[in-house]
Amino acid sequence: MNTRIFLQISPERRGIILYTSVTVTGIRGLPLIQKGDDLPRLIIDKCALEDGDIICVASTIISKAKGYSRHLKDIVPGDRAMRIANSTDEDPRFIQVVLDQACDILIETPFTLTEVPCGHVGVRSGVDASNVEDGLIITLPPDPMYEAEEIRRELKTLTRKDCGVIVTDTCGRSFRRGQIGHAIGWSGMSAIRDFRGDSDLFGKTLEITEEAVVDEIAGFANLIMGESNNGVPVVLFRGIPEWSGHDALYFSPEEDIIRKALKKV
Ligand code: GDP
Ligand code: MN
Ligand code: MN
Repeated sequence: MNTRIFLQISPERRGIILYTSVTVTGIRGLPLIQKGDDLPRLIIDKCALEDGDIICVASTIISKAKGYSRHLKDIVPGDRAMRIANSTDEDPRFIQVVLDQACDILIETPFTLTEVPCGHVGVRSGVDASNVEDGLIITLPPDPMYEAEEIRRELKTLTRKDCGVIVTDTCGRSFRRGQIGHAIGWSGMSAIRDFRGDSDLFGKTLEITEEAVVDEIAGFANLIMGESNNGVPVVLFRGIPEWSGHDALYFSPEEDIIRKALKKV
């Protein structure tokens, strides 16, 4: 049985949003994903899509299907990986993969915090040893925007339905304990809902409010997926109204004051 949650949301004041409920459905019954698996086909075997649905897919299963993984036994750690692993008490081969994935290393200890080429900044480059067989480690898809776009296109070819797709990964946050789902790729929507220029309840113009909608949806998807052996790598959202905005989810290096501060440490 798929897990289904109903959210009751009042109609929006300004009357733009017509929905009153959103359904969130965790897709159960997907197999353990193997290299070469056709994810869109597996997904549509388990749920009937409708136009406007948003499908969240855990990056883990995309990496498994595309073979973005490494065998620990094949990795020879270099000096930097050896030095970092020595102070973080981790497997130097694992750290070598983390470094291989990174285009920028923000901090090395007490954990490696890196930027990967798609712009995402994460602990250990998002490299993961959970939910895979022993000795194998999963790396993030190198181009998650492309993965989202490809899944969306194939779902449309298979069903004629136009859905949005978000690729998610569980990530830690600055300033707060606890990990949540983040969007690392998306297609069929803009990442940010831009409220700038809107008026608030008292007629004042909003100047800085931009809502990271793809992350909000990814966060809820992550709640339904769970982290361990739940076996729910895909979550379907139905009833979220369209929004408009832009895709500049990541700060540019000039804007990013946290990155600048970390680099000075
Ligand atoms: P991440 O957040 O992308 O790193 O993915 P997780 O490893 O946290 O997994 C998210 C969800 O997908 C959890 O419910 C896992 O149990 C599930 N999951 C991971 N790999 C597979 C798989 O190959 N098949 C199925 N059916 N579920 C999986
Ligand atoms: Mn992960
Ligand atoms: Mn996860």
